[in-house]
Amino acid sequence: MFDFLIVGAGFAGSVLAERLARVENKKVLLLDKRNHIGGNAYDYFNEAGILIHKYGPHIFHTNCKEIFNYLSQFTEWRNYQHRVLACVDGQQVPIPINLTTINSLYGLNLSSAALEEFFASKAEVINHARTSEDVVVKAIGRELYEKFFKGYTRKQWDLDPSELDASVAARVPTRTNKDDRYFTDTYQAMPLNGYTKMFEKMLDHPNIKIMLNVDYNEIINEIKYEKMIFTGPVDEYFNYCYGKLPYRSLRFKFETLDQEKYQNTGTINYPNDYAFTRITEFKYLTGQTHSKTSIVYEFPTAEGDPYYPIPRPDNTMLYKRYEALANQTDTYFVGRLATYKYYNMDQVVAQALSTFNKIQSENTFQSLYNEREINSH
Ligand code: FAD
Ligand code: UDP
Repeated sequence: MFDFLIVGAGFAGSVLAERLARVENKKVLLLDKRNHIGGNAYDYFNEAGILIHKYGPHIFHTNCKEIFNYLSQFTEWRNYQHRVLACVDGQQVPIPINLTTINSLYGLNLSSAALEEFFASKAEVINHARTSEDVVVKAIGRELYEKFFKGYTRKQWDLDPSELDASVAARVPTRTNKDDRYFTDTYQAMPLNGYTKMFEKMLDHPNIKIMLNVDYNEIINEIKYEKMIFTGPVDEYFNYCYGKLPYRSLRFKFETLDQEKYQNTGTINYPNDYAFTRITEFKYLTGQTHSKTSIVYEFPTAEGDPYYPIPRPDNTMLYKRYEALANQTDTYFVGRLATYKYYNMDQVVAQALSTFNKIQSENTFQSLYNEREINSH
């Protein structure tokens, strides 16, 4: 008999398995339909011996000290600040758009103060930025929006930015200084020996049993357990009873090249041409030295594994209906797919840790209740 059956061995499932086993001494069965742990953060050494991310580039960043400290129990880190260039008008310029981007693109020599005025002169007046188009056009105007955001977003989501929530494009800010880092979080680092090694350490506990290559539907009736934690797609859990929640997928094309270096930074975005959105060269992320190099192209698709919930009002409404059903069960729904949220890894860790706190307080309440029941008889 297991105390918890956890479906999905990504960040959400693994953090909960670790906490429940180590802190609460619970017996956990962690299962995944894939042949590995780590969920979408899984990495491995390819045939050439280069560490690559099977589901696209994953860069860890957070502002939360507790989350960084929590994960630091299972890995050492390599400091890494991700930098991205966008290929626009035949040039490779920094994205997020910054002072260097504008000066290079337009052959100017603006100061930060002058750039603020430049943006103000281009910005459109929009009172309430509701969509991804609004949020960009309101900050930097239509021309830059069209060069950097419109094409990329249409490729990535197969939707116009005007059909997506503001939160999507708002992930990429605009700067008037020369800071060319993709993220500005306090903690930016990569697990020194990779994500998979970090997960292995996290899950190395006698109370945790791991079953791979198994869809939970195949074994749910064979296993005895107290409570379930589900981290797969919430609509799948409820047999799509209200219809499918839309997800966006990607096809990854990996290449290993017989040269030490391919491009000038970790990722290059291609907003306007080609069917792919970006190319990432893994050695920048991992710091590995090798005479060859491996890169990955990301081609957005509708079909395939569900990678991205699609943040727009219709989908949020549909998700709310599933959430209402979820609230009527005693299963815990955690993670990017189970709560239909466009979350980064640190946000999923935060959600899993707060679910753990909730489980702990429910347990405390239950044992107090049981004690009272016993004492009253
Ligand atoms: P997942 O990792 O998806 O884990 C869910 C697991 O459940 C999967 O392994 C799946 O196989 C399993 N499962 C589903 N259904 C079943 C079933 N029926 N039976 C058994 N198992 C099942 N975040 C960052 O912070 N930085 C980044 O740079 C970054 N880059 C990203 C790039 C890409 C291309 C993508 C797609 C995501 C990126 N993310 C990034 C987000 C990050 O991947 C997620 O936040 C995180 O991995 C989500 O963890 P999770 O446990 O919620 O879900
Ligand atoms: N985006 C864009 N141009 C870019 C980079 C991002 O239009 O050069 C938009 C696009 O809609 C993208 C979103 O901003 O999906 C979020 O970008 P991010 O790099 O955070 O995407 P992720 O790494 O999650 O795929």
